[in-house]
Amino acid sequence: MEYQGKELFRRVGIPVSDGRLATTPEEARRAAEEIGGPVVVKAQVLTGGRGKAGGVKLADDPEDAEAKANDILGLDINGHVVRKLWIESASDIAKEYYLSITFDRGAKKPLFMFTTQGGMEIEQVAEESPEALIRLHVDPSEGFQPWVARRLIYGGGVEDAGEQKQIAAIVEKLYAAFTQFDAMLCEINPLIVTPDGEVKALDSKFTVDDNSLYAHPDIAEMRDNAAADPLETFAREKGVTYVKLDGEVGICGNGAGLSMSTVDVVAHVGGRPANFCDLGGGGNAEGVVDALEVITRDPQVKSIFFNIFGGITRCDEVARGILEALDRLDMSRYPIVVRLDGTNSAEGRQILADAGKSNIHPEATMLDGARKAVELAK
Ligand code: GDP
Ligand code: MN
Repeated sequence: MEYQGKELFRRVGIPVSDGRLATTPEEARRAAEEIGGPVVVKAQVLTGGRGKAGGVKLADDPEDAEAKANDILGLDINGHVVRKLWIESASDIAKEYYLSITFDRGAKKPLFMFTTQGGMEIEQVAEESPEALIRLHVDPSEGFQPWVARRLIYGGGVEDAGEQKQIAAIVEKLYAAFTQFDAMLCEINPLIVTPDGEVKALDSKFTVDDNSLYAHPDIAEMRDNAAADPLETFAREKGVTYVKLDGEVGICGNGAGLSMSTVDVVAHVGGRPANFCDLGGGGNAEGVVDALEVITRDPQVKSIFFNIFGGITRCDEVARGILEALDRLDMSRYPIVVRLDGTNSAEGRQILADAGKSNIHPEATMLDGARKAVELAK
């Protein structure tokens, strides 16, 4: 949904407005109070065209935000009932542009599209004024080059130097987000320019599904459903139970109960868990590699805590999986705290010790492990 896409934008440094989630009119009022000034109340549903359907409304003050929230909650937008709202600081709009990057399956290359005629549906621009829509492929083997941004900007006819500079930075960051999250589509419509000349993303669409794009609305909708959270979708494909949280300590346990208490203990010792992850594959080496691949895709993660209590899961298998992941993924920037207990834990610890990896930190108890992981995340 929009707010999740915006969270990813915020993380890669694409400017977005300050906002909060709300599920009731009272929460919307409180969000508006916290944000201050006029806000926009936006339906969070997995479909576009919310503006036209009455799902996006400006509110002058917290009271008005409560009233607008009351109007929008429960609305049916293209078959999606509104249960969540995104309340964000309202922007003044001078211009509305459009910027996207998709994977062009025909050319097997990412494709940027940019136009200064944003705000309306891009299909309509493509039909009515195709010359205003700049299309540009990126050669994946060359990666991103600054001239890509310049061609889009000059081709689109952006003349203001301040805008040019900001858009160039956004183009580069959007490409980074696209590759980092294995997206099929990252779209900003509208990408606005405020009267002060500030460029920012007013909407976001982030898709990791591989349905063909721009086919028709029902496919677009399915594609958005699958895209709710790119990381969670990726985890599901890998058979890893994964829930994204908001902190810096990546957590990996075996069994839902242990994973959950690990999340609690990390929070208890003053850390912020980045996720809740229950090992896939019953904790075999392959499952460990998959879990680490998921966790390290979260750019917020600073340290990783493995808390394993071996029952059916064998600690030596987990240890092998961790070493295998170190071989296969670039894990050098992550300190990894490992607490192994239960079946074959002595063997597991020995395997790790023999490997002599400097970023692996063994700990004997859950509490000490949590403390260490929190300390290393700083
Ligand atoms: P969509 O209709 O689902 O694509 O939702 P958008 O997030 O794109 O919002 C629809 C329209 O609402 C935008 O094109 C803007 O014209 C308008 N809008 C959204 N946020 C703001 C805002 O902060 N200020 C103003 N003035 N208009 C906004
Ligand atoms: Mn939009």
